[in-house]
Amino acid sequence: MRTFRCILGVFMALALATAAFGASPADWDIIVVGGGNGGIPTAIAAANGGAKVLLLEKMPYLGGTLLVAGGQMSAANSKLQLAAGFKDSPEQHYADVMRLGGYRSNPRLLKLQTENAGWTIDWLADLGLKFDKNRPVYMDHHELYSVARSYQPIGSGAAVAKVLIAELNKCVARGDVEVRLETRATELVQNDQGAVIGVRAVGKDGQPLEFRAKHVVLATGGFGSNRELLAHYHGSKGRNALSYTPAFATGDGLQMATAIGADVSHMDLFIPMPGGIEDPNNPGWPLPVRLQLAPATAGYIWVNKLGQRFVNEDTLSPDEKEKAVLRQPDIVTYIILDGNVMDANKPIIANWTWDEFDAEAAKEQNFFKADSIAELAVKLGMNPEVLQATIDRYNGFVEEGRDLDFGRSQLVCKLERPPFYAVETKPMIYLTHGGLKVTADLEVVHVSGKIIPGLYALGEVVGMGQLAGNVLAGGMGNTPPITLGLLLGERLARTN
Ligand SMILES: Cc1cc2nc3c(=O)[nH]c(=O)nc-3n(C[C@H](O)[C@H](O)[C@H](O)COP(=O)(O)OP(=O)(O)OC[C@H]3O[C@@H](n4cnc5c(N)ncnc54)[C@H](O)[C@@H]3O)c2cc1C
Repeated sequence: MRTFRCILGVFMALALATAAFGASPADWDIIVVGGGNGGIPTAIAAANGGAKVLLLEKMPYLGGTLLVAGGQMSAANSKLQLAAGFKDSPEQHYADVMRLGGYRSNPRLLKLQTENAGWTIDWLADLGLKFDKNRPVYMDHHELYSVARSYQPIGSGAAVAKVLIAELNKCVARGDVEVRLETRATELVQNDQGAVIGVRAVGKDGQPLEFRAKHVVLATGGFGSNRELLAHYHGSKGRNALSYTPAFATGDGLQMATAIGADVSHMDLFIPMPGGIEDPNNPGWPLPVRLQLAPATAGYIWVNKLGQRFVNEDTLSPDEKEKAVLRQPDIVTYIILDGNVMDANKPIIANWTWDEFDAEAAKEQNFFKADSIAELAVKLGMNPEVLQATIDRYNGFVEEGRDLDFGRSQLVCKLERPPFYAVETKPMIYLTHGGLKVTADLEVVHVSGKIIPGLYALGEVVGMGQLAGNVLAGGMGNTPPITLGLLLGERLARTN
């Protein structure tokens, strides 16, 4: 009798716990965590392959980073590229990315991506996505590929999200995918053997939830908006860079997986993009203004906190600038200009007049104005003699028509006509390069080197570095989550 009561007690406790979590045993074939760029295609492909899918999204809407992204993609041998007559191949795409990224890509993952990127573009085009010029182009805001293989969706990333969501809705209408918005996954559920069998989450009204499935896919994006994780993995650079990523990019999947022993990869890589101006009212985040960097704007120079130049301001290699900024103290840099530069350019902040620029400088927050170089240096906390020497040397190069220090080509004007201005800039994080270590089958790897059964990851939660290595390679943020999501969803559906 005592034993029976005891057993009954255990059952009641289990029943209560189950009720508290709203738990349901293995109701789903696949749980996809994150309804963004990678999560939506995963859910679509899995559902089209016959799987029952639960898609959890913590925000009140789907789309993820695509909703704010430029949407640029890259692929070899799409129908559009072939029709335009460009000679390309997945092997050439692979070789380009490997070379640009310093041979740091995971070879098997990059091969999988480059071999399948072409039909990803075809698939999106078939869904109705339109691309600028109806063909790929060369794009120069990242390192140039050896052939035109960058695609700019008309309507940017939001247009990509729109076609993906429309396709997902068909699966929802069929009853093959359930989407739960405002449901934040918080923890992975494991069985006694360590296999992942579900997800704990917090629902709309804060209620705890638990879902069970045969496979769990993390597609939760990067951690560019999580200051603690940025500092943890990237030290002072992570602390000082500005977050240009959406506020939801908090590395949840990374944290859930590492909490059960998942390993990480490529965390030594961190490549924010130069030219952010910190919002004085929101430290760590940039002002919503666009600074026109050289070579689009001529004549200004770029100095570090010590008042020294550090790069060819006109270089056509974005990577050269990105890496040069990261080598400067506190990754803080200043654009220095004068009346001559103002005459030679439209305002260096897009959509501002020079008067607005001047008014901002009067506030002395990130914009500064002075009648002399020495006064400007003092305002910037620099040694006036160093800044003066830097500018004198630069003016000498302008006179000679040759930059002996950095080989700058546009030596438009001397910096000598007051007022002098400075704009303080910091690089901005668009995505994170490090993430969960995965196999070429996108299985998450444990620190022991074994895989964690039942757990998969793709997209920025695995970091851009595993695909693209040590560079911001054009289109290698947006395209891989879609390609790999489609491949993984289809494969997991087959293994059900
Ligand atoms: C401004 C900007 C411009 C960019 N432009 C380009 C570009 O032109 N080309 C390019 O290649 N790359 C670009 N990128 C990068 C690229 O867009 C992203 O790396 C990519 O879209 C990330 O896709 P993802 O699926 O991994 O994550 P996301 O699309 O960010 O999706 C993650 C989703 O998971 C959800 N989520 C997170 N945690 C949880 C949780 N605990 N529970 C439930 N849901 C959760 C999030 O809310 C989000 O919806 C840009 C990035 C930015 C910020």
